[in-house]
This record gives sequence, structure tokens and C-alpha cells, in this order.
Amino acid sequence: MKIIPIKLSVTTCYLVKTDDKYVLIDTGYAEDWDLFLSGIKKVNIELSAISHIILTHHHDDHCGLLHDILKENSSIKVVMSYQCKDLISKGENDQTHGGGLLNRRVAFLIHEKQLYLSIKLRRKVDKAKNLKFRPYEFRDCDILVKDGTMLRDIGVAINGKIIETHGHTVDSISILFDDGDCLVGDAAADMLKFAGTKNCVIFICDMKEYYESWNKIISSGAQRIFPAHGKPFPVDNLKNNIWKNDEKHLVRYR
Ligand SMILES: [Zn+2]
Repeated sequence: MKIIPIKLSVTTCYLVKTDDKYVLIDTGYAEDWDLFLSGIKKVNIELSAISHIILTHHHDDHCGLLHDILKENSSIKVVMSYQCKDLISKGENDQTHGGGLLNRRVAFLIHEKQLYLSIKLRRKVDKAKNLKFRPYEFRDCDILVKDGTMLRDIGVAINGKIIETHGHTVDSISILFDDGDCLVGDAAADMLKFAGTKNCVIFICDMKEYYESWNKIISSGAQRIFPAHGKPFPVDNLKNNIWKNDEKHLVRYR
């Protein structure tokens, strides 16, 4: 599969070539607009060549550029899970389903210092604005998907399907292509390894569900994992790190 990473401040979104168009998997923070434009220019892809945006979930660092992109090309269809449709209309990262930051080291980095985000975004992270985004109202032309939805059935000319991979959030989905490439959003990650993340993303709603999603990804035949945070890695990393983090170490998001 031809997968082109577009690296933004903290999110990597991916362009995937279909027959004659591109599908964009996730976007980035609203602040990433210039980075996004220069990123797609570097690989010679116009916004007009994008037919669909598939959102892996509703978080601010994944849907933040939606309005800017659609303003330039309103014919792009936005694809999301049923659960995402409600959450994305609220304009705030869901905190009603519990969960927290992975462990104390991660919480220290993110909360007390806010070092990681501030450095990456090259701006001071405003706590009040953090976790918020401009709400998105589902349009008639947009598409809802669920576990097993085939990409060809939603007009995306590639062999592959949607798999529900909850745990990071209640609306998380991954995209699995027939060749084993799997774009997982935040269902796995490759970030802050020194803080003991072990391929988990830093915020998790339900740890058990998170690792059950790994099992699903592993047994579905995925080979290469493309996370929204960090570089692609082999599925063996999931096999080796599964169940290594513990629910009891989650630190509440304040
Ligand atoms: Zn997320």
C-alpha cells in the first residue's frame, strides 16, 4: 500500500493512494494548518486530490484541521464511527467515559511541565483551550462506519476494511488494508518510550479494552502498524508489549 506520512506537530496523518485519488487518515491540531499545507505540497498532492478523510476518533489532535480542509474542498467525504459522530459534535475530547494518563511519569510530562506538547507545538499549551476543538456537525454526504465496513463499500477504491479498536476512546477505529498495513490512530503508538509507554498512547479510557483491541489487530493479520503518534513499527511490538501497562497506574486527567 502506498502510504504517505504527513508529519505535523504531534500527530502524523497519512495519505493513502486509491485508484485516482487519495484518502487522508486523520488530520492534526487546528494549529497545524501551515504544517499540513507545506507537508502535502512537499509530496505534490493537492487538496483537490483528496476524496475522503477517515477519522480514527474525535480527539482535537485528529479532527482539528477538518474545517480548514473542507473549506478548501467541500466535496471531501468525512468518514467516522457512529460513536464519533456524537462526540465530534461536542467540540471537546470525551472525558465522560473515564480513563486517564498512562502512568505518573507521563502525567508529570504532560500535566506539570506540559513540556512535551509545548516543545512540539512550539507554543505554550493553554490548559483552558487544551482538549477542545471546533465542533463538527455530520453532513448528509459524510459516511458512518462500523466494525467490518469494507472500504470499497464506502467508495474508497482500495482493498481493506474498518476494524473497531476501542480502548483509547469509545469511538476509536483502525483501517486495515489487505496487504497487512494497519493505520491505527491512537489504538497503539510509538512515543515517550522513556516514560514506559510500551507502544501505548498516553491517554487511555479503558486499558482492558485497549489491549483487547491489540489482540484484534494481531489476529486480523496486520503486519505493519502506522500510529498517529510516532513511526510505523512491526506488529511484533504489539505481541511483545501486550498487557505490560496496568490499569491501576492510570492517572486521572485533571
Ligand atoms: Zn486520541
